Amino acid sequence: MMGTNAGPVSGLPVLKERGQREVFCGLTGIVWLHRKIQDAFFLVVGSRTCAHLLQSAAGVMIFGEPRFATAILEDKDLAGLADANEEIDRVVARLLARRPDIKMLFLVGSCPSEVIKLDLTRAAARLDQQHDAVRVLAYSGSGIETTFTQGEDTCLSALARELPFANDAADQTEDELLVVGALPDVVEDQFQRSFDALGIPARFFPPRRAQALPRVGPRTKFLLAQPFLSETAATLEDMGLTRLAAPFPLGIEGTRGWLGAAAEAFGVPEATLAEHVAPAERRAQVALGRMRERLEGKRVFFFPDSQLEVPIARFLSREVGCELVEVGTPYLHREHMAEELALLPQGTALSEGQDVERQLDRCEEAAPDIVVCGLGLANPLEAKGMTTKWSIELVFTPVHGYEQAGDLAELFARPLVRRGRLRL
Ligand code: SF4
Repeated sequence: MMGTNAGPVSGLPVLKERGQREVFCGLTGIVWLHRKIQDAFFLVVGSRTCAHLLQSAAGVMIFGEPRFATAILEDKDLAGLADANEEIDRVVARLLARRPDIKMLFLVGSCPSEVIKLDLTRAAARLDQQHDAVRVLAYSGSGIETTFTQGEDTCLSALARELPFANDAADQTEDELLVVGALPDVVEDQFQRSFDALGIPARFFPPRRAQALPRVGPRTKFLLAQPFLSETAATLEDMGLTRLAAPFPLGIEGTRGWLGAAAEAFGVPEATLAEHVAPAERRAQVALGRMRERLEGKRVFFFPDSQLEVPIARFLSREVGCELVEVGTPYLHREHMAEELALLPQGTALSEGQDVERQLDRCEEAAPDIVVCGLGLANPLEAKGMTTKWSIELVFTPVHGYEQAGDLAELFARPLVRRGRLRL
């Protein structure tokens, strides 16, 4: 399908495309969500393909009991000859009898379950009533019109509806901050220390244990830690929470802007924030100085995949001197991305959606130094002599905050060094 030029955002033209896409599905989110929420279990209701994807993405868990599985829909289920709901009830009863450690069960929808219109929300409500000790929720991880980070969004949106809500002033006596988006524990601890030092009462969502859901209320303001959580943000706003507009905490500038938005909302003076972040900013500057030597002037092309493209492009261009050839993103949330877009260099070529063949042509013609893309495109592009970076690594690696700024840049420097060595 042809691309169209949509209206510019922040003065930047956006090429809007619809066509064949090369993306992973939302089931991928289970890989990092099951590590984050340690008493939850993710039961995919899907096909053998879903089971295979999950197993190869997550690797085989040798130690300990796994916390995800696939209830496979057989041909007779798909043909409507068996009652899939009865099967699900049986599988869940067996699972919960064997695993009393599970406190929250997510039924995860897939393409096959959606195609046969299996209502997992109803199934979850039924199972929730049947099993007293376990909360059962449902969300979609399907690959129909989605991209791989949306699995976290649909999961957190379902979980957000479970947050205990303080209805009156006596229940919530002060403004509180909720940081939204799964972050590695090490990064969460760093941010928690910063908020504590600044005197901002902050909680994180999702919590490490499903039973420890933070209480929220009309005085809760939330900061998105990840740029792909539009449905979750809408759910929280519907509940009466207020989103703080901010860039995302990637790189020095993004982290400062993100912490700065919280500081401003909670009345922390700019000088107090500046003093608190100064040592971490100095360390990050040193780490980035080393990376800048390798990355300055390198031309980067982003295929749409993780929805982290715009903040990462802003970081690469402003903090290590990369040149942006094209910044493709699956969806461009104009409002959540406003602070990021304002920081992109004049004339940055943005594209939204994908027509993969046309984009591959543009990429080949531009011959960038590094291509950021999904796993499906990386091997063919490497075979053509291009240097690639898997965008999925950006969600598996701790990259947020000051202490990780150097590591974030290194993710892009490493493949260039490797390619350089191969050419020697
Ligand atoms: S949910 Fe859809 S895209 Fe994902 S593995 Fe299953 S069938 Fe494939």
